[in-house]
Parts: sequence; structure tokens; C-alpha cells
Amino acid sequence: MSFLKKSPWIIHYDGSSCNGCDIEVLACLTPVYDVERFGIINTGNPKHADILLITGSINEQNREVVYNIYQQMPEPKVVVAIGICATSGGIFRECYNVMGGVDKVIPVDVYVPGCSARPEHIIDGVIAALKVLEERRKKILEIESGKEAIIIETAIPSDAEEILTLQKLSYQSEAELYNDFSLTPLKQTLDEMREDINKKLVLKAVIKGQIAGSVRAYLENETCLIQRLILHPLSRHLGIKTKLMGEIEKIFSHAKKYEVFAGNKSDRWIYFYKKLGYKIFKSAKVSEKRDRVYLEKNNLNSKLG
Ligand code: SF4
Repeated sequence: MSFLKKSPWIIHYDGSSCNGCDIEVLACLTPVYDVERFGIINTGNPKHADILLITGSINEQNREVVYNIYQQMPEPKVVVAIGICATSGGIFRECYNVMGGVDKVIPVDVYVPGCSARPEHIIDGVIAALKVLEERRKKILEIESGKEAIIIETAIPSDAEEILTLQKLSYQSEAELYNDFSLTPLKQTLDEMREDINKKLVLKAVIKGQIAGSVRAYLENETCLIQRLILHPLSRHLGIKTKLMGEIEKIFSHAKKYEVFAGNKSDRWIYFYKKLGYKIFKSAKVSEKRDRVYLEKNNLNSKLG
């Protein structure tokens, strides 16, 4: 951990657990395990924390809170889901107000299953989180120092296969969220992807020669319709999604407004778009299992009209 200037600090949030896992988290701090001897402090302030430990499942009441805590933590940050409830919803998974595990709202880096998760496993999870934190910090430093760059450029037909593979990987979590594996992005063929690249503007984000993210857009009735913003799970926290959105908005700076959509339960995406200034303006049912919300943002600099 050569990069660390201080010992990692954690913040613990109890989502909706039965307190079984929370007691085990606290046990890590008691004299038997005493992780504080390594300088690992349980801070109450997300702005001071490197690692977010969450117990309990995500429900309609806490999803906003979890997202807010996560947003307040500085980069780089790591999330550890403690216990089977935080991992997948556990025995509460089918409850009417339970959305599932923590990854329904924020990205999770380390899963510590168990009911309850034992202190030894929680400590192992924190150690695994430290490795992720180190990797992430290195990557950010490399990008900041110019050793590694995120290149945003227009995709060409020969990129179709790589983007399609990334798209299918990226949409897995959405399919799980809705228990619907018939999502169009998962069914798209290579020929259809080539057609998209030819007919729409498809951007790709490239790191070390590999496509880490992509987005596509086209103009319809003076509105720029932005779709399929995708990201490789290992390239989170590098600002790639924001860069791709910024670039596509710049390219379509002549549009009167921008429009995106997301599944009604896809909080991560809805929060992300709202942060960029988008507002929900309508919702619609797209299938038995899914509703969709549409968000828009006026382009104040539009030269159209
Ligand atoms: S995993 Fe078990 S012990 Fe932990 S919060 Fe859920 S029900 Fe409680």
C-alpha cells in the first residue's frame, strides 16, 4: 500500500439490516479483533472516508440516503457489501419494498456474504477493498500525470464487436435488476451494431487501446437523443461517463435539447443524469416488467430555431 498517506478510514451505514451484521462490524473494532490498531477508523463523515461498509438491503426509504453518502465520499472510494442482505437482498429480497442488494443503487467492489458475515470475513473484505483502492488510486494518478489517457473518439465499424461485447456486459446488471434478459441491448446483433455506428454518432472511450465506455446519439426534431451509455465495470470512478456525455453534448451543441432515458428502478443512472442537469419529464411502460423514465435538458447555447 505504498500510495497510502494515511490508514484507510471507513464509514459504516446500516441500510435495513436486522443488526446481526452490524454487531459483527462493531466486533471488528472491539479488543478481540481491534482493527483500529492498524489505524483503520470508523468515521462518521463520508467526506473523510475511503471505504463504505454497508449492511442490509436497499429499499425505497434508504436508496437516496445510500446514494448521497456514496456521492459525498472523495475519489478514490470503495464499497463493501456486508452480509447476504447487502449482497443480494437475502431473505428480504422478495419483500414488497425491497429493491435488492446495494449494487442496485451504487457500484459494489467487494461482496462479503454470510448471515451474519463473520468479523474475520469482514476484515478480509476490507483488505480486498484496500487492494481495489490502491489500483484505483494508481489509475487516477496515471491519468492525472498523463501516463495513461482516456481518449474519446468516434467509433468505426471495426469497433462494433468490442462495443457489442462491452454493451452486453454492461447491461447484465440492468437485466438482473428487472429480471428481464430480453432487453434490446442484450439482443443486439453485430450487424445491427455496425448499422448503429454507420447511422448514428457512436463515441468510444479508449484506455490503453481498449474500449472502456461508449455512447451513441442522433438528432430528431431538433432534439439530441442520447442512448446506450455503457461502461466497463473495471473502469468506474474515472469520470468516463461524464466525459462521454460532455463530448456528445458538445458535438450536438446545435440541438435544442438533449434527451435520455433509464429504467424506473435504475437509480444509479437516474441520479447520474440528474447530476448533469437532466430532469424527468415523462414515464412510460415498456413491458410487463419494466417502466421507463425520460429525462431532458435544454441546451441554452443552441443555435437552432
Ligand atoms: S445478512 Fe443476516 S445477519 Fe446480516 S443483516 Fe441480513 S439477516 Fe441480518
